[in-house]
Amino acid sequence: MYAFRTRHGPADLCFTDRFGGVSAPPYDELNLAVAGEDDQVAGRRNTRLLLDDFAPGAELCDLQQVHGADVAVVEADGPVARPVADAAVTRQADVVLMVRVADCVPVLFVAPETGAVAAAHCGRPGLLAGVVPRTIDTLRAWGDASITAWVGPHVCGACYEVPAAMQDEVATAVPAARATTSWGTPSLDIGAGVRAQLEEGGVTVVDVSRCTRESGDLYSYRRDRDRAGRLAGLVRLRGPA
Ligand SMILES: [Zn+2]
Repeated sequence: MYAFRTRHGPADLCFTDRFGGVSAPPYDELNLAVAGEDDQVAGRRNTRLLLDDFAPGAELCDLQQVHGADVAVVEADGPVARPVADAAVTRQADVVLMVRVADCVPVLFVAPETGAVAAAHCGRPGLLAGVVPRTIDTLRAWGDASITAWVGPHVCGACYEVPAAMQDEVATAVPAARATTSWGTPSLDIGAGVRAQLEEGGVTVVDVSRCTRESGDLYSYRRDRDRAGRLAGLVRLRGPA
């Protein structure tokens, strides 16, 4: 179920793998996609299994992700609608922020001093649009506290081949993202770009990533195309015991 799971101050956070769910091949097992060819009943069951294990009784705030830079601020108690955004921040206890990915970079943030958490989804468009810096800015609006960010599983720079012109476009804006595939062609390292943006924003980075394309226990769009499921990053503030 978990590729990584930890506690940090008042928060729990995790990145999922493909095990522990009910989806049939080729989406087996814990496919958390909300679209695609997989059985939607299985998808909802997978989300329930995950939430019941990760944060029983908590509310879910997941996102309609559009590769943009909008950050949803979740302040209300109770059931949370699915905002159109690629990041969410909250100070509400027992609201699970969740981002879905299959090669893009999931990032989870905890600011213990202000009691805030955030989750962001960042692919190539999000790196250019600045979803990670905007998430940092939104957290800092609640106080200039220390922030730690966990960078989860995504496709690595040695695997993410792109046309040379696309590499130039991205690397002009975020030089750290320029990379080369293991077979010697132009590529992008979106994770390196995200880490650079985090460090520029004064955030402590904990990189717990592995390459999704190279890891059969993780979902990868580059590897499996339309037969790829989605994994997720989740973070929540614990409520009073
Ligand atoms: Zn790789």
